Amino acid sequence: MAKRDYYEILEVNRNASEAEIKKAYRRLAVKYHPDKNPGDKQAEERFKELTEAYAVLSDNQKRATYDQFGHAGVDGSGGGFSSGGFRGSPFEDIFGDIFGDIFNTGSSSRRSSRGQRGDDLRYNLTISFEQAAFGTETSVQIPRHYSCETCGGSGAAPGTSPKTCPTCGGAGQVRYQQGFFQLTRPCPDCGGTGTRIETPCPDCHGSGRVKDKRKLSLKIPAGVETGTRLKLSGEGESGLYGGPPGDLYVVITVEEHPIFKREGRNVICETPISFTQAALGGDIEVPTLDGRVKMKVPAGTQSGKILKLAGKGIPDLQGHRRGDQLVVLRVETPTKLTARQKELLEEFARESGDDVHPIGKGFFDKVREIFD
Ligand SMILES: [Zn+2]
Ligand SMILES: [Zn+2]
Repeated sequence: MAKRDYYEILEVNRNASEAEIKKAYRRLAVKYHPDKNPGDKQAEERFKELTEAYAVLSDNQKRATYDQFGHAGVDGSGGGFSSGGFRGSPFEDIFGDIFGDIFNTGSSSRRSSRGQRGDDLRYNLTISFEQAAFGTETSVQIPRHYSCETCGGSGAAPGTSPKTCPTCGGAGQVRYQQGFFQLTRPCPDCGGTGTRIETPCPDCHGSGRVKDKRKLSLKIPAGVETGTRLKLSGEGESGLYGGPPGDLYVVITVEEHPIFKREGRNVICETPISFTQAALGGDIEVPTLDGRVKMKVPAGTQSGKILKLAGKGIPDLQGHRRGDQLVVLRVETPTKLTARQKELLEEFARESGDDVHPIGKGFFDKVREIFD
């Protein structure tokens, strides 16, 4: 009997899109599913035909070959589909996961015990100082495995289900004798899973998952710092054979800020002031995370003096009130003096004695005590 055309089997045009092919396959697979047509050999044949046609047409490369060379080009690619036997599993178990939206059987909670948990993933995210202080929302694309939609993660072609492994009887382990000892090792036929897939899902080739890159939005809370690790449960690699997914860990790196430094919840900012401002006092403008703030520098301020701006720091991760900003004042000595400025300073020096430099006086008194 000549093989029917794959497009004809799926009842689609030769230029049908991937989505159209998938849709047609779903519709017909439901219609001809053996459990819906018990004992109907024709339906079973149709179903096998469908699965084979879909395996080829859903794969761009195979489809192109088929378009060019017909069945001869892809012969053998459908070789695994000859094994019959769609029995052994209740209808809901197979279709609950895959076609749950159609049947609404609500049985998706039943998971195969062979599933393996997916791996945890680590993603390094670099954010700005301000984003760390106030929190941010961002979206990332992380290449990872997702549960295969075609088979609902089971790895078995729609309409079929994994069978108990005949070698180990489903235990996943086989016993063997070595001298006096009876030992066990993972079953070589099923890789320790206890089941075997006779007809692999054409989209995931039996693994139950597909590699993809989808947008994931991340909410970074205020107060994170370099090294903070945020855990997103269930956003890691999807499980194998329907197993639960792993977790995603987002590890934060905070960029250096050109003027702010951080110490716990406090923000440190060194601010230069002129030596006249230091001596005479005055108003200065200080940058903060919330914008500029005016501050009073008291007369007679020494270099290194720290002024505090309460509540201008960073909250901690528990969302407690913000820390403070500590403004470290650095007195700047003038470098380029005009003749007039020099004259004035020389006059100032003549006028000055120990009275205007009490710290210096105390220091040199100590030096004298030690060395004289
Ligand atoms: Zn699949
Ligand atoms: Zn086995």
